[in-house]
Amino acid sequence: MNNGKTLVELEHVSQVYATGRKRFYAVQDINLNIHEGEFVCLLGPSGCGKSTLLRLITGLQRPTEGRIGYRGQELQGVNPYASIVFQTFALFPWLSVQENVEVALKARGVPPKIRTARALDLLDRVGLDGFENAYPRELSGGMRQKVGFARAMAVEPELLCLDEPFSALDVLSSEALRGELLELWLDGKIPTKTILMVTHNIEEAAEMADRLIIMGTSPGRVIAEVEVDLPHPRHRKAPQFLKLIDHIYAILAGQTQPEPVEMGTAPGKPGITRWLPQIQISDLVGLLEHLSESSQPTYDIYQLTEDFGADSDLVLRLIDTAELLGFVRVGQGDVMLTPLGETFSEASILTRKEIFSTRIRRLPIFQWLMNMLHLAENQSLKRDVVRAAIELELPPADAEKQLNTIIEWGRYGEVIAYDDETETIMLEPLVGHSMATG
Ligand code: ADP
Ligand code: MG
Repeated sequence: MNNGKTLVELEHVSQVYATGRKRFYAVQDINLNIHEGEFVCLLGPSGCGKSTLLRLITGLQRPTEGRIGYRGQELQGVNPYASIVFQTFALFPWLSVQENVEVALKARGVPPKIRTARALDLLDRVGLDGFENAYPRELSGGMRQKVGFARAMAVEPELLCLDEPFSALDVLSSEALRGELLELWLDGKIPTKTILMVTHNIEEAAEMADRLIIMGTSPGRVIAEVEVDLPHPRHRKAPQFLKLIDHIYAILAGQTQPEPVEMGTAPGKPGITRWLPQIQISDLVGLLEHLSESSQPTYDIYQLTEDFGADSDLVLRLIDTAELLGFVRVGQGDVMLTPLGETFSEASILTRKEIFSTRIRRLPIFQWLMNMLHLAENQSLKRDVVRAAIELELPPADAEKQLNTIIEWGRYGEVIAYDDETETIMLEPLVGHSMATG
């Protein structure tokens, strides 16, 4: 497998993006090597810059700083030895399955006869035999993604890059497709020498890869590397596998930073704005109640994903939120309730709201919003105005999600009110709440 020959080499690579007036490092000072024969996973929470790194490595964009080498040569333009499969593969709806694969070969100047033979062969290998003449609309999501794989592999890339290729599929299709890809890879049925896969799914990464490069956010950076030397097939319930998962959770969840860094600043201020994790309050309450009902003093984070049957990314976001609010402490892959968290889980609905309110009032993002509302006429602002302010720092789609989260949290804590009809955010007067003292 890994024969030590370096394919990809990143030296001090950084990518700066600008949204509105603010420039920020999506990834900063990345150093890594990927060797021939390896299956490497880039693993990390959403927003840590995984897709950015993949685009840099395939040459779809150039880094702001640093150097990217491929086989010892500095990468110039699109990397001809690599191909990439995205989360949802863009197939041409007016072309048949076979034509969709041949298109990629045509683009690389492969003569027609060879094109057809190779497309049919690849479709056969990914299990789409008999569907050559079907059109994308006739296929399930899993089958469409297989066409995507066939198309990416048809050009016989030395380096196959996969960006969350299974995350848009239902559980069964993604499991089946994962198995099929592993088989093609392990049995040497594809000419690809190296696979680089991006995922935020911890189990998926641990099941497939030889090496995990674990990334953290703000700014996106490499925080750890883990070699996986478990033989295939890997069983998700095997003790060695569970130990590995636990180790990865410990790395990903144990990143608490000093309070000023952790809390961040607010929009328009220097320093990194700490945005609220995208979670629903009901899920947070569910998590805290679950922890409080447990008889153990500390709780295995991996166990939580099992209990909830939830995506690891969601569980980590919930824990992140609980930690931000001071409801839990995290360390070494374990989580434990703080006395405040304990009180919260056992309290009445009204008291919970009061505790929540005092906690979110100390977050810079809420201080910022409440300040703006104080200064505004009638102590209220149109939703659009607040969103425009957020858009100075976040891309529009993210700004919209962030605003929804702010409104949900603010409403729950009764710090702000929101009128759906007029799309107006208002300051909630501080009456009748004994504990809600800013
Ligand atoms: P991941 O794939 O790990 O979720 P991305 O590489 O997509 O992360 O994004 C990293 C950060 O950069 C995110 O905050 C994202 O919003 C931001 N970002 C990504 N692409 C752009 C872009 N073209 N312009 C501005 N910001 C971007
Ligand atoms: Mg991504």
